[in-house]
Amino acid sequence: MIDRVKTQHNSKTLRIATEVNKFYKSKTPFRVFHGSTNSTRILSFKEDEMLDVTDLNQIIEIDVERLAVVVEPNVPMDKLVDATLKYNLVPPVIPEFPGITVGGGIQGGAGESSSFKWGFLSQTANWVEYVLGDGSIVKATPDEYADLFYGAAGSCGSLGVITAVELQLIPAKKYVHLTYHPVKGFNEAIRLIGDEAGGRNDFIDGIMFGKNHGVIMTGKLSDLKISKLQRFSRAYNPWYYLHAQKIDANKQTVKESIPLRDYLFRYNRGAFWVGRYAFELFGVPFNSLMRFVLNPILNTRKLYQALQVSGASQEYIVQDLTLPYDKSVKFLDYIDAKTQIYPLWLCPVMPEPRSPLSCNGINTTLAINIGVWGPRIASFNKFKELNKNIEDELTHYGGKKWMYAHNYYAEADFWRIYDKNWYDTLRKKYKATTLPNMYDKVVVKKRYEINARRGVFQAILGTAKIRIEKVNSQK
Ligand SMILES: Cc1cc2nc3c(=O)[nH]c(=O)nc-3n(C[C@H](O)[C@H](O)[C@H](O)COP(=O)(O)OP(=O)(O)OC[C@H]3O[C@@H](n4cnc5c(N)ncnc54)[C@H](O)[C@@H]3O)c2cc1C
Repeated sequence: MIDRVKTQHNSKTLRIATEVNKFYKSKTPFRVFHGSTNSTRILSFKEDEMLDVTDLNQIIEIDVERLAVVVEPNVPMDKLVDATLKYNLVPPVIPEFPGITVGGGIQGGAGESSSFKWGFLSQTANWVEYVLGDGSIVKATPDEYADLFYGAAGSCGSLGVITAVELQLIPAKKYVHLTYHPVKGFNEAIRLIGDEAGGRNDFIDGIMFGKNHGVIMTGKLSDLKISKLQRFSRAYNPWYYLHAQKIDANKQTVKESIPLRDYLFRYNRGAFWVGRYAFELFGVPFNSLMRFVLNPILNTRKLYQALQVSGASQEYIVQDLTLPYDKSVKFLDYIDAKTQIYPLWLCPVMPEPRSPLSCNGINTTLAINIGVWGPRIASFNKFKELNKNIEDELTHYGGKKWMYAHNYYAEADFWRIYDKNWYDTLRKKYKATTLPNMYDKVVVKKRYEINARRGVFQAILGTAKIRIEKVNSQK
């Protein structure tokens, strides 16, 4: 079985290498298409300028001795977890949305509440197989092609195409034993996160429900059901953030045992709290009955499909912003004063300065990620102005954005944050100059046509697809 999958992998990789080489020879700036996305930018591909890697979706090998899994890049997180759990193993970093893929997670920058300990998904890779811009195939490791191994993390597919990855594995446990600590403000929240990051936790994140109140969650893997059992995956279970909000209101420390898979994807139903805005948009009462009834379309896969078709992401501030630990309270004060957006997500992340294109590529002992996902702003000018203001303030505090989001940087400002000389040298060295560059890929230059109803209906009907422009055969 493994041999068959390996043989299939080799022929898929050769096919990709051949196609990339053709693009190289014709100097065509192609984009990587993998059939789904967790980006909030509306993607549109040209049929003759895209590299289809959707069939790179196999788990190649799970090595229980070496604690490692070799996986193709289009494998999503839920498939990966289900496969490794059969061996009682799990990758140490599983980004919170089940549809995030291994390749997109490494190239887009993905992490979760274990990232204070392990860093981003890219930091848990032993090696990454790349098809370079000219079609040659290399295996990048921390020792060989190290500049590519580190430098390509967060590069949004602009330095090569991932065709396989070896990720580390750790022993899985049945539960996450989670403690919710109510806090009275930003200072207390960040101090507690810093203290707990130095302790024996496996998971840390937090939600601020207001300037003066929130909850920090710390978790440990455990085979024992130590406290009350709590699930988040079933239609009748609470959305995770609403559950945390009740604890915030009661101001009592709470302990729970959560089955591991439920914990890993706890934010899937409702996409943290972004799904709530769909209720407001369509005037649907936001109550437990309607959340139960609409459950089949309120998971992140469906919500992202609706988003891609509707264009509605250009009316919502949806940003993840990563800062040095000692600047995070000041930045939270700014977000509070400027936006009054709540809840805010807090997630500590181990930095990796050798990956400067990744949002955790900053020089600090611990980075703090702040998720700012706000309600509707109908005026495009106000939406853009607020986005730009957040970008300026983040740069001022030495932070970096997660590149899945809308970006409105002027080109000169962008290359002041990301070292263009270093980037161009790497692109030249690895023959990547025919690929679109990072600025061109991540900055939004146009205004979308917004049709929220169309997005929701197509997502319900299962017809929502990423746009692909057909080539005119008359050409
Ligand atoms: C409200 C909200 C909350 C979020 N919370 C989290 C969170 O908690 N944790 C988290 O990790 N993320 C989070 N995200 C961000 C998002 O999920 C990440 O950006 C993730 O990296 C996207 O993965 P994907 O598989 O969908 O890749 P895509 O978004 O489709 O791709 C990312 C980049 O990778 C490139 N790429 C994809 N495959 C390949 C390949 N094989 N070779 C080369 N390049 C490739 C693409 O071209 C693209 O530039 C959140 C987003 C939102 C909107």
